[in-house]
Amino acid sequence: MPRRLFVTTALPYANGRPHIGHIMEYIQADIWVRFQRLRGHAVHFVCAEDAHGAPIMIAAEKAGKTPQQFIAEMRAARQPYLDGFHIGFDHWHSTESPENVELSQSIYLALKRAGLIYAKRIEQFYDPQKGMFLPDRYIKGECPRCGAKDQYGDNCEVCGATYAPTELKNPYSALTGARPELRSSEHFFFRLSDPRCVEFLRQWTAETNRHGEPRLQPEVYAKVQEWIGAGGKGLADWDISRDAPYFGIPIPDAPGKFFYVWLDAPIGYLAALKAYFDSGKARANGEPSSFDEFIAADDVEQVHFIGKDIVYFHTLFWPAMLKFSGRKVPDNVYVHGFITVSGEKMSKSRGTGIDPLRYIELGMNAEWLRYYIAAKLNARVEDIDFNPDDFLLRVNSDLVGKYVNIASRAANFLVRYFDGKLAPTADPSGAPSGSAAVARAAAEDIAAHYEAREYGKALREVMRVADFANEHFDRHKPWELAKDPASRDLLHAVCSDVMHCFRLLTIYLAPVLPVTAERVARELFGMPRAFCWSDLAERQERIAPYKHLLKRVEEKQLDALFGADAAPATAAAAAATPAAAESKTIAIDDFAKVDLRVARIVAAEEVAGSDKLLKLTLDVGALGTRTVFAGIRAHYTPPQLVGRLTVMVANLAPRKMKFGVSEGMVLAASADDEKSQPGVFLLAPDAGAQPGMRLR
Ligand SMILES: [Zn+2]
Repeated sequence: MPRRLFVTTALPYANGRPHIGHIMEYIQADIWVRFQRLRGHAVHFVCAEDAHGAPIMIAAEKAGKTPQQFIAEMRAARQPYLDGFHIGFDHWHSTESPENVELSQSIYLALKRAGLIYAKRIEQFYDPQKGMFLPDRYIKGECPRCGAKDQYGDNCEVCGATYAPTELKNPYSALTGARPELRSSEHFFFRLSDPRCVEFLRQWTAETNRHGEPRLQPEVYAKVQEWIGAGGKGLADWDISRDAPYFGIPIPDAPGKFFYVWLDAPIGYLAALKAYFDSGKARANGEPSSFDEFIAADDVEQVHFIGKDIVYFHTLFWPAMLKFSGRKVPDNVYVHGFITVSGEKMSKSRGTGIDPLRYIELGMNAEWLRYYIAAKLNARVEDIDFNPDDFLLRVNSDLVGKYVNIASRAANFLVRYFDGKLAPTADPSGAPSGSAAVARAAAEDIAAHYEAREYGKALREVMRVADFANEHFDRHKPWELAKDPASRDLLHAVCSDVMHCFRLLTIYLAPVLPVTAERVARELFGMPRAFCWSDLAERQERIAPYKHLLKRVEEKQLDALFGADAAPATAAAAAATPAAAESKTIAIDDFAKVDLRVARIVAAEEVAGSDKLLKLTLDVGALGTRTVFAGIRAHYTPPQLVGRLTVMVANLAPRKMKFGVSEGMVLAASADDEKSQPGVFLLAPDAGAQPGMRLR
């Protein structure tokens, strides 16, 4: 029976561009969705921008925009990432949408009718200058435990203490610097501690889904039980309201009160699905029912892919909100770990190691990254690591050296000697050792691994079969068989066998390599459509001449990705445009976004392993010291630089390079055509300028 699935990834917060962590999650979910579709199931795969909350309101204000303009820009910026990595969402929506307003308000009212909402006055810090209550992250002060200055309102980065913002000594508003006042205001709470909620959550978290699999991974289940605590004592009621000014959804019958962003964010899953149904796209994808019918249907499975940082919201609040507003609850919440780059944790402030857009703009194949990430993923909540050397090795050895190699070698013999016709799979030598049979036998194991999100195991199995096919091919030495007309049948059988095997492996890899699989289906096997799982049982009669399928990863591409020549993605794109002499005009606001500072080079050293880079230590006055890798080694020696002043871009996102993190960029001039006018010339201010001074 075909399954009906509703699948989502976590809603990304609309205050930044996608980073490699988002791309990993999209790839994980997209592979699962493509696998289900390959098997003939109907999947509706949606996501949306998480658009509300104080941080977006404040960021938009800083940028001189309305929140709506701000999130529209974020949304436009997102599409190249999704297209670039072949992420096939059926619909992308926003929590700032009429569907979400309607659903959030109706779910809230239903919870209220169920007696699970109450009002209570609480005291909170208020910025009298800004005229708003301050979220914890916008209150700073001295740590109540160790006295460290400039610590956030909820925890100390120096000693690790956690506390309430009201415990900070000498608190101040991070927005205005004003001393915040304690003011009281009425807030609405969701009664998560209600015995009905506790009882439901105990049961829901422990249940299996309709296929007999646990709803939650074992480690997630254990964590959630810890939160629920003995006798449900662990669950605190949840503050779901915020006072104006706030960018959010108004609470019905409560003027000046808005839903806290985390209330309407998960409801955005439903809003995205509703917009997708209302647009007619679900019907076009073969789903005849309405949104209301679909979301209430017993057979529809609701599956959320999320990261380990948002488990609390998705395994406690979200199912409880759905349950007690009279709606169906999720079938599964699948949690993944984080991605590190060369063993280093991603950091929001220091950047993300790999810029996914730069990866695409450098012309690197998205399927390499899909394969590499898939090969590392399993069903557990474990962090995975992107290691450039490992990436190059694995992609080149597995995809090019093993998988594609089968087709490129066998196809040449088949086309040259047999006009592209394939022999039946049985080996005429009588040996029951054909690689197509080995591939066919692996089908159910591979399917089970994909289903369980054990992609690493699925791909290991695929590569085991690929190894077998290559060995089988080599053992028969087709290049020698081809010289002897008496061996033609055996040559035909061996080459056909591995080509049948290649076809099966392509079907297995289709969820991970959708573009390559489709090319193989159409170009090599002349099919009018992409592969589906039932093609495993079909036979193909002939092939077309082989066309090159996948290139190898080159070291220089990784050097460029990790910024050996330090051009940010957008500058690289601009440089690729011919006649770059004429620049587009920008507004003064655009210029003001670039924080240019005078910096003194206090140290300079050569970087082992790079003939382009110098590592500079810059004194930027009040901004402290920064490390910058600059591609000027061919033009300057360290002693020429130490002590001199230059100009740096101080607010460039930090970039993880092969040799360390670069925290900015120094400015230098060069000709458009460096070949005829060589030279790179570092900028310097006139005498009297001091480190840290701003350029304007
Ligand atoms: Zn402290």
